Amino acid sequence: DAKRVGRGRAVVYGPALGDASRRLSQIELALRGAFKAGQFHLHFQPKVDAKTMRPVAVEALMRWNHPKLGTVAPGEFISAAERCGMIHELGQLALREAALAAKQLDGLVVAVNVSPLQLMESDFTSIVAGILKEVGVEPARIELEVTESVMLDDAREALRRLHALRELGVRVALDDFGTGYSSLAYLRSFPFDTLKIDRSFVQSLGEQANSHAIIDTIVQMARALGMRTVAEGVEGDIELAAVRAMHCDEVQGYLVSRPLSLGSLKSWLDGQHEGLITDSIDSRLHP
Ligand code: C2E
Ligand code: MG
Ligand code: MG
Ligand code: MG
Repeated sequence: DAKRVGRGRAVVYGPALGDASRRLSQIELALRGAFKAGQFHLHFQPKVDAKTMRPVAVEALMRWNHPKLGTVAPGEFISAAERCGMIHELGQLALREAALAAKQLDGLVVAVNVSPLQLMESDFTSIVAGILKEVGVEPARIELEVTESVMLDDAREALRRLHALRELGVRVALDDFGTGYSSLAYLRSFPFDTLKIDRSFVQSLGEQANSHAIIDTIVQMARALGMRTVAEGVEGDIELAAVRAMHCDEVQGYLVSRPLSLGSLKSWLDGQHEGLITDSIDSRLHP
């Protein structure tokens, strides 16, 4: 309604882009309009097989470019969307766009991040089923990434929902593993397809000897439990060599590729296909 839009404008386009909390309320106020204006879209970051360095999956990451606020990071707007209830619409947009992308990305699994609030909405499983059916994509092509925080409120119910999703045929990954309130008991209660080792462990491989031990332990445990592992946030040669030596299954990070628009991703994939792997990665494969 006019009054709300008017108020929103006054704050959103106000001259004083000051402190962080002011920006946060501006973000919250701008969310709905931005959603209606179609300002949200996905970028896709490749995940490669650690042995062959061939692409096997992509992670869908939401992007928002606001004409006045500029680029707003997911770290800012996802939590704002969670606070104001927009996360459900945003999450469904992500699922639909990811499913549409999966149809264009032959054989690659497309991973989508799912907020705890989405997982806990009453009909989440049927929402997912509906979108996949409508788009016409096989559930096994979609992987849902949840963080350990889904277990915080009602772990029993969260696990029940994860099982229902699994029954649908989608894959389920545990994101940022090792940083949350994880209990190893969850790994016994739910067979995640994938554990994504948090980038804080990966990125401290150079400096902290215990990071090596932690990653090594996670990989061995995951293997024993039949779960795949992804090393997140691989930026440098040392990290890449280390996670490959520890037999992580997949690698994701700026070293392989930054998140890309769907168009750029396709070009990148074509390059990989034609064997035009960048010199730097090629030399790591054949040192
Ligand atoms: P995430 O799911 O752990 O995604 C990985 C984040 O790490 C992404 O940040 C990605 O751009 C970044 N990243 C990838 N490789 C590297 C690297 O080598 N170095 C560094 N420093 N960073 C790297 P992004 O896109 O800013 O997203 C941040 C978080 O926002 C995501 O973390 C996820 O929790 C959330 N998010 C993003 N899109 C969505 C979405 O559609 N729905 C929900 N619920 N959450 C989302
Ligand atoms: Mg993720
Ligand atoms: Mg992550
Ligand atoms: Mg994260």
